[in-house]
Amino acid sequence: MYDYLIVGAGLYGAVFAHEVKKAGKTCLVIERRDHIGGNAYTREQAGIQVHQYGAHIFHTNNKMVWRYVNRFAEFNRYTNSPIANYRGEIYNLPFNMNTFNRMWGVTTPEQAQRKLAQQKQESGIQTPQNLEEQAICLVGREIYEKLIKGYTAKQWGRPCTELPSFIINRLPLRFTYDNNYFAAVYQGIPIGGYTKMIEKLLDGIEVRLNTDFLSQREQLSGLARHIIYTGPIDAYFAYCYGPLEYRSLRFDIRELDTENYQGNAVVNYTDIETPYTRIIEHKHFEFGTQPRTVISIEYPLAWTPGQEPYYPVNDEKNDALYARYQALAEKTPGVFFGGRLGSYRYYDMDQVVEAALQAAERLL
Ligand code: FAD
Ligand code: UDP
Repeated sequence: MYDYLIVGAGLYGAVFAHEVKKAGKTCLVIERRDHIGGNAYTREQAGIQVHQYGAHIFHTNNKMVWRYVNRFAEFNRYTNSPIANYRGEIYNLPFNMNTFNRMWGVTTPEQAQRKLAQQKQESGIQTPQNLEEQAICLVGREIYEKLIKGYTAKQWGRPCTELPSFIINRLPLRFTYDNNYFAAVYQGIPIGGYTKMIEKLLDGIEVRLNTDFLSQREQLSGLARHIIYTGPIDAYFAYCYGPLEYRSLRFDIRELDTENYQGNAVVNYTDIETPYTRIIEHKHFEFGTQPRTVISIEYPLAWTPGQEPYYPVNDEKNDALYARYQALAEKTPGVFFGGRLGSYRYYDMDQVVEAALQAAERLL
């Protein structure tokens, strides 16, 4: 009999498990996949750490979280500076003076702000009602058309007029020549990969891979007094109110006999015609100098039950449905739901670490 059964060996499960052990209690971690790490999992190929489930850059403003993860890994100095390729035109991201200069030829913040104010006024939008209107108010119609409209429609499988504005607020807008994608004080990638960091978190903890909680629920539940569940909350309740919506992805990972394929870790393809959203060249996350390279081409995919639910779709309809599942969760004694899927939130890794530490403090 364990004190805790932790479902999912992603970052949330690993942090929680570490805290359980530290508190002198026992736990068993089970994981459906054949590896630990969840979506942050990395593996080595051609001497390169490959981010199997897409680019993962750790960034945070939370000093406590940064100190915590640094106990389990040494972080490199990688700063994410993706570029956007719109029909062969290259733009810097996030939206900053380099982007405005390339788009309009302006050179000073004042000129850029004037241009934006003019475009906002021409749009006639007072209070933005959706992602399209929010984007136009923030960056003007031209940037919206070239860098946001196509990418977002591909990524989310619906037009920007049908998406909540918070998604675009994730990206900084600044009037300096600064291509740092994140407005975070701390940023980097664990040297040697995320898997090594998560292995350290799970040091001395029993982990069973290839073990799906939902297909052996009775037997596994009997092994522990409490359950921490980090899988999809709707799946736990057998979709009794209907499935929540997610977006899925397909990664086409290729090893190429070339040293430097695209000159940057992340290149976004922001037109609507290119079927993929971005290409990642993994060696650039760690300033690699290997003779070969590994890229992954990221195709957005509609989600149906059985596919990997990479992104929760936090629009009004789904948030309302989630609230019903959450109410059920609160009435389920001995089970706590956490992580990106358990709490149906578009969490970044630092938020997951923070949430797991808070839950551990409360529950342990
Ligand atoms: P997960 O990593 O999803 O782990 C949950 C685990 O539970 C999985 O391993 C799953 O297999 C397992 N599981 C589910 N159901 C069951 C079951 N029934 N039985 C057993 N096991 C089960 N964050 C950043 O901070 N920076 C980034 O740059 C970044 N980039 C991202 C890019 C992509 C493409 C994606 C999809 C996410 C990105 N994120 C990024 C978010 C980051 O991946 C998450 O915040 C974090 O990994 C979530 O950790 P988690 O433990 O909550 O969930
Ligand atoms: N986005 C965009 N163009 C880009 C990059 C991002 O329109 O070149 C929008 C898109 O809607 C995306 C959102 O901004 O879903 C958030 O981007 P982020 O890079 O945070 O997405 P993630 O890394 O989580 O996929």
